[in-house]
Order: sequence, then C-alpha cells, then structure tokens
Amino acid sequence: MTYAPPPAEAPWRDETRLAKILTWIATTVAFIVSMAGPGGYFWLSYEAALTESAVAARLQAALITQAITGSSTDWRHNVSDLIETAFAPSTLPETRAIHDATGVVVAQSGAAIAGPLVASAAPLMGPDGVVGEVVVTRSLSPILARTLVVAGITLTLGLTIYACLCVLPLRALRRTLEALKHEEAKAREVAEEHLRIVFEHAIEGIIVFTPEGTLESCNPAAQEMFGYPAGAMTGIPMTDLLQPLPGADRSDLFPTRQWETRAWRRDGTEFPVEITVSETRVARQHQRIGIVRDITERKQSEARLSYLANYDSLTGLPNRSLFRDRLERAMARAQRSGLQLAVMFLDLDRFKTINDSLGHDVGDLLLQKVATALAGCLRKTDSVAMNLCDDVETTVSRVGGDEFTVLVEGLPSTETATFVAQRILDTVARPFQVSKNELFISTSIGITLYPRDGADLDGLIKQADMAMYRAKDLGRNTYYFYSDELNAEAAERHTLEASLRHALAGNEFVLHYQPKADLVTGQMTGVEALLRWQPAGRKSVGPDKFIPILEDTGLIVPVGTWVLRQACAQMMSRRRAGLPPLNLAVNLSARQFRQQDLTSQVAAILQETGFEATHLELELTESMLMDDMEGGVRILAGLAAMGVRMAIDDFGTGHSSLAYLKRFSVHTLKIDRSFVRDTPDDPEDSAIAIAVIALANSLKLKVVAEGVETPAQMAFLRQQGCDEMQGYLLSRPQDARAFATWWRDRLDAAVHAPSAALFQ
Ligand code: C2E
Ligand code: MG
Ligand code: MG
Repeated sequence: MTYAPPPAEAPWRDETRLAKILTWIATTVAFIVSMAGPGGYFWLSYEAALTESAVAARLQAALITQAITGSSTDWRHNVSDLIETAFAPSTLPETRAIHDATGVVVAQSGAAIAGPLVASAAPLMGPDGVVGEVVVTRSLSPILARTLVVAGITLTLGLTIYACLCVLPLRALRRTLEALKHEEAKAREVAEEHLRIVFEHAIEGIIVFTPEGTLESCNPAAQEMFGYPAGAMTGIPMTDLLQPLPGADRSDLFPTRQWETRAWRRDGTEFPVEITVSETRVARQHQRIGIVRDITERKQSEARLSYLANYDSLTGLPNRSLFRDRLERAMARAQRSGLQLAVMFLDLDRFKTINDSLGHDVGDLLLQKVATALAGCLRKTDSVAMNLCDDVETTVSRVGGDEFTVLVEGLPSTETATFVAQRILDTVARPFQVSKNELFISTSIGITLYPRDGADLDGLIKQADMAMYRAKDLGRNTYYFYSDELNAEAAERHTLEASLRHALAGNEFVLHYQPKADLVTGQMTGVEALLRWQPAGRKSVGPDKFIPILEDTGLIVPVGTWVLRQACAQMMSRRRAGLPPLNLAVNLSARQFRQQDLTSQVAAILQETGFEATHLELELTESMLMDDMEGGVRILAGLAAMGVRMAIDDFGTGHSSLAYLKRFSVHTLKIDRSFVRDTPDDPEDSAIAIAVIALANSLKLKVVAEGVETPAQMAFLRQQGCDEMQGYLLSRPQDARAFATWWRDRLDAAVHAPSAALFQ
C-alpha cells in the first residue's frame, strides 16, 4: 500500500483580494486625476468669463450713464451713437446690449451668438434712477473646446496612473506569487517524499483509521506487525486488530490517547502493543492516526526483571521479597477472616557439612530437590493434605542459603499447623538422590501464629526464626512454636550477650577445677578445668548458659585461649608452690577446633607457661569431629605429634560412630554423665555404659566416667573395667585456691597413710 498525501488547501486564495484592492485604488486615483483636470479647468474658465463679462457690463454701464446724463433728450434716440462711443469693439465672441427699463433692447453690438452662454448685467442710471441696463453675453464654446483638450490630456494621465498603480504591480505581484507557489509546490513535494519515506520505512506501525474505527491505510511495518499481505488491511474494523481503550466511549473506542493493549495478528496470535492515537483533518474529514509499537520484548524483560526480583533463581521458589509481600497481604486477610496464619521458618540441619564435604554443586542440587519436595508436599492436590486442611493455602519461599519459609493461611486450628510442620519434617527426612549420592538431611522448624502471637511483619519473621533456633537446640529435626517465654529467654540471652562482650576485659571469668581419679588405685590422675562467669554484682553463671552464646558470637575463641593459658599458668604456679605435676584437661569448643592455627596456638601457650604437652589433655565432642572429618584428622595428628592427648567428651550423646575413632588420634573416652546417672539400677543405661567401656578397652583407649555421684555407681564402673572417674562423689568443681587446699589435704593424708587412696 503506498502513501497518498492529502490534497493541499489553497494557501494563495487572498491573491484576488489583493488584486481587487489594488484595482480599486488605481481606478479611484485615475478617475480623480482624469475628472479633476477638465472639471477644474472648466470651472476656473467659467468663473473668469463670468467675472470678465460682469466687469465689462459695469464699465459699459458707467460710460453710457455718463453719456446719457449730459443729454436731456430721450437718451434712447441716440443710442446708436452711444454704442459707437461707449461700446468699444470686442474681439471676443460676445454681444453687448442696452435694455431700457422695460427690458426692450435699445441697442446691441456684435453679432448674435449661439450655444452655451454666460451673461452679466449692470444698471444704467438716469437722473431719476435706473433707466435701463447693459447686458454683456459671452459664448462658452471656446472654454468648452479647451476643456475638451484638457480632458483629453488628463484622461491620458489618468490611464497612465492606472497602469502604474494597478496593471504593473499586479503583474509583478502575480509573477512573485507564481514563483512562490512554484517554490512551495517543490517544497511540498520534497516534504511529501520525506513523509512517504518515513511512512514506508518507519519501524513502528502507522495506521490511519476513521473515528468510527475502520482502517483506511497503513504502512508496511503495520502490515508486517499484524501479519497481513500488502493492501489486505484496508477496511478492516479496528476491533479485529486491537483491543479498545478500557472504559472508552462506545462511539469512540480508539480515542486520542496513549495506552498499552492487546493486539491480534491475522493468524489469531496475540501480542502486546502500545498505541498512540492522534487526530487530523484532511479535506474537512476527520481521521485518526495510530502509532502502534510492538512491546513484546519490553514486556518480556519486565516480566524477567520482576521474576528476578521476586523469585529465587536456584529453586524457582518465591524469594524473601515476594515472601514478605505475600505475608503482608496474608496478614491483612487473616485480620478480615479471623483465621490464623502460621509463619514457619526452616533451616536445614548440617547443610554446611554436605556443602563443604560434597561440594557446592551437590549442595545446590540438594537445595533444588528439597525445594521441589517442600512445594510438592504442600500442594493442594495432595490428597492427605486436602483431607486435613481444606482451605489451607501454603506458600513456600527460599529466603537464604538453606533457609526456607512456609506461609500457611486459613488455619482452622493450631493442630493444622502441627500437621503441616510434621509433613515437612517427614518430607525432608526422606533420602534425596543427588548425583550418585543418597543424601539424608533434616530440618528444624520455628513456627509463629498470627494474630495469636501478635507482632508485625518483621516481628513475625523474627519470632519464627527464634523458635527455629530453639528447635535446633532441642536436637534438630523438629518444630517449635514461638511463645512469649521464648521471647523472654531471647531477651535474657540478649542481655547476657551484651554483658559477655565485656566479661573477658573485666576479668569476670574464673576457672574451677574438678579432679579425676583412678578407679583401681584410687589415686588422683588429673583435673578438668571448667569455666565460670562471675559478672560484677551478680550470681555466678554456669557454662551451659553462656558457652552457646560465646559460640554464637565467636567470643569463644579469645575466651578459650584465655582458659588454656590461665589453666596452664595456674597449674604451673601450684607446682611452684610445691604441689606435684598433675594432668590437666581443658575443654575445646567447635569454633576453636576449626581454627587453622590451633596447633601453633596451643604450642605457643605451652611454651609461654612452661606447662608440658604430655600433661595436657584436650576434650572435644564427637559432633565437632564429624562436622569436618578431614580437618579434624589433620589437627588431631598435629596435636598428637606435640604429645598432647585427646579425649572425646560426652561420649554416647552424638554419632557414636566407631569408624572415626580409629581414624583420629584419640586417647580417652568420657562416658557422658547421663548414662552414669541411673547406673547400676537402669538396665539400659548400664548396658550402654558397659558397651562404651568394652569398646574403649578393645580400642585400647582410656575410659573415664563423668558425673559419678554415688558409691554404687563407682563400684559398678570399677567392676565393669572403667579406668577413671570424675564426679561429685570425689569433689565438686572448685576455684583454684579451694582446689589447691583440697589437694594439699589429700596429699597430707597420703603422706600419713601412704596407701590411703582418695576413696576406697
Ligand atoms: P563437661 O566437659 O562434660 O564437664 C563436666 C560437667 O559435669 C561440668 O559442668 C561439671 O560441673 C559437671 N559435673 C561433674 N561431676 C558431676 C556430678 O557428679 N554430677 C553432676 N550432675 N554434674 C557433674 P559444667 O562445669 O557446668 O560444664 C558444663 C559444660 O560446659 C562442660 O561439660 C563443657 O562441655 C563446657 N565447658 C566448661 N568449661 C568450658 C571451657 O572452658 N571451654 C569450653 N569450650 N567448654 C567448657
Ligand atoms: Mg569436659
Ligand atoms: Mg562431659
């Protein structure tokens, strides 16, 4: 379809008006000039002839009056004489006549003249008054003849003026106008050519349509955009191509506006466009011009951006930002409906171990599998879920590395939340096949309810997070509901944390010592250093309360170093005070154990204090070794090379894997006091204690029982072949001074009765 420019409007239509004005002026001037000449001339000449004849009449009358005054005779008899004397002959075509009082011509000179005349009269005075008059009559013919000549001249002049004022300028004007018109036409042609090029080559579709909505013409881009062959679009209703402006008037579906809308190709496929409609008038007809832009790409990148902003790229689940958004809306809905919603905060247990040991690729795949499983198990189509919670809506989001949230809406009761949480635990607990590995993982879930637990959006997330930590503390793979007590505990923990930050500098830490003794000989074999916190002005705080905080904040590293240095130094000072060398056990935390330079740190402290490596035993827990096997093997080997011994603390509470015991350089197993407590009465605990002792013996490890409080327990352990014991039965942990006194007393007793042991 080619571009047909609209017919131009006549911009020079004022040309005739201009010509008319010019013609009118020229005609008027020429007319005035042509008429004023002869008219003026005739009038002046006529006035002169009148004056002259009047003067002549008066002069003659005076002469004749004089002549007749002297004669008393009737003056009329010698008029002819009078005429002879009085009337001088005139060369002019005039007659002079004397009339008596009755008007009768008495005498006359000159021949009678015809034609237009001018006459003047003067009275003749006799002794008794007026006796007659002299009448001078002149012919106007000469004046008229000259007037004609003048008229001829002025007419010529008038015509010349007319030509000068009108014909010539008009011709010049016309020529200029023609030249201008020509220029204009050329410019129009160029502009139209440009327009045509723009129209035909524009990337945007240009459509011309009637205000009623029928397409009249369009450019090739529009044809291509809508998928029509050339010329096939003319006459198509606009509504077949584009969706009208929403809410537009029925009679004006495509008004002069810009809006985004849907468009349809010839084959029926839909695509998004932006259309800008403007109005124009061609030959008094209204037309609409629409610029149509295909915005498919823009919409796609907008959608992609919005996806990136709202979804997690690894798992495809909603991300933190979308989760917050949905939670906010869900809270508003819960307010209206009166139904509870639950926010569940999930953290995968020991995910870091998998990530570190099997690599991030495996970690990522596992996260994807867990995400799919989570979303799947909460889907409504799931029959079990549907039966139990009909109107429950769930949203699973990934909010961090191994952190997920589940938003559960429309809860009829707390039990439903419990059901959902248990379902999640079960789902995550199933093995995941990732690459060649079958991976087992679990998750800890913190749950908070809205509006039951109150709080705003951030408060809810914090509460769920807090409850999740409690679930972790409870041994992982479980869920925990937020409560106000939990909050109070968190507040207390917060206070503790703040005070702990100054405890080391404020010398608020002290060490207590608890002895260990050989179960066979009854001799003291060593002592365990146990940390106490004595905040200024407050009660002493036990390590169970503050060690986890030190762990979380990382303060355990400097504090742990202090413990080791302080314990070694105090042991050396006791020795300088005359007490014999004694083995020292010091607890190590997981964080300390993960320090790359742990071995050199220990070496430096031993060097600094002079305490022998062979007298030092470090206590670790099983989980610390399990979290990083390779690193653990390396560090323990380094410490063993120095002569430092290793003990596994709280044995039996963790993995109790036999495999690792062989790989690590471990010397001692400490049976956790929870197994000792109910021996010998509880057969199960007793069986465990017996098994641990047997295991240690077979691996040639020394075995120490913790928390021995009764002689019965001691007897049982001794009988089972346990090497050493530690517990209140022997001594409670006591500060350095009290312990030194206690020890000296025992030594004194031994001097007096060398065979006497600490116990029998
Ligand atoms: P643990 O290493 O297993 O220490 C033994 C715990 O059992 C001590 O508790 C001790 O007071 C208690 N105990 C000893 N005999 C008996 C008994 O007959 N009956 C009962 N019921 N309890 C007994 P404590 O001092 O509260 O220490 C708790 C835990 O704190 C320790 O357990 C250890 O894991 C940790 N800890 C203590 N000091 C340090 C330290 O300096 N560094 C690190 N990293 N952890 C420490
Ligand atoms: Mg210990
Ligand atoms: Mg222990």
